[in-house]
Amino acid sequence: GTSPAKAEVTYQIATDSTFPPFEFANNKNKYVGIDIDLMHAIAKDQGFKVNMKPTSFNSAVQSVQSGQSDGVIAGMSITKEREATFDFSKPYFMSGVVMAAKPNGKITKLSQLRGKRVAVKTGTSGAQYAQSIHKKYGFRIVTFDESNDMYQDVLTGNSAACFEDSPVMKYAVRQGTKLKIYTKPTLNGPYGFGVKKGHNKKLLRMFNNGLADLKANGEYARITRRYLGAKG
Ligand code: GLN
Repeated sequence: GTSPAKAEVTYQIATDSTFPPFEFANNKNKYVGIDIDLMHAIAKDQGFKVNMKPTSFNSAVQSVQSGQSDGVIAGMSITKEREATFDFSKPYFMSGVVMAAKPNGKITKLSQLRGKRVAVKTGTSGAQYAQSIHKKYGFRIVTFDESNDMYQDVLTGNSAACFEDSPVMKYAVRQGTKLKIYTKPTLNGPYGFGVKKGHNKKLLRMFNNGLADLKANGEYARITRRYLGAKG
């Protein structure tokens, strides 16, 4: 046509690189997952464009604070601490932190971690949880930037256990990662889309409006079912 199309704004959205089922590269090397599909569906619903930027979780969080990214969707837990520097969307998924270890049953509870090494991911609530209990249980903390490297450290036996988000650890185990979850989820709370506090108000409003539309029209349910099956 000849009428000029209204130019759509493109937002830079930071995400974790490997955090299935929320974000991961599929076998065609395309980024997919609940967060990715939600973000694209919300953008479509609200008439804006997104450029997804996968990086480590910690870098994703920092890229919003430095203004390099407009927002972050990365299975990011809405916490009191983060609300000092982020404005969060309405919650979109419930989560919690679990301990996973090798399935051989040698490490099944926190009290067996004494003198051992425990793997966590930099800047996550799992890392925060480990910090809060490592003196009491007498373990050492080793940090990784990627969930895969953290699992690997437990699989090789370097670390006795790791702390990971419950839906992510469950998904990894279902996909064949040879680890077992031994604790009930703790620090339970929802994930939210985040922008730098006081910035990108319009983007945040559109996210919330889009999320409400997707919940109402069944698209949210379709996206979560795509990765989690009917049970969720
Ligand atoms: N939900 C956890 C957090 O917000 C972990 C997020 C992640 O590893 N991508 O810290």
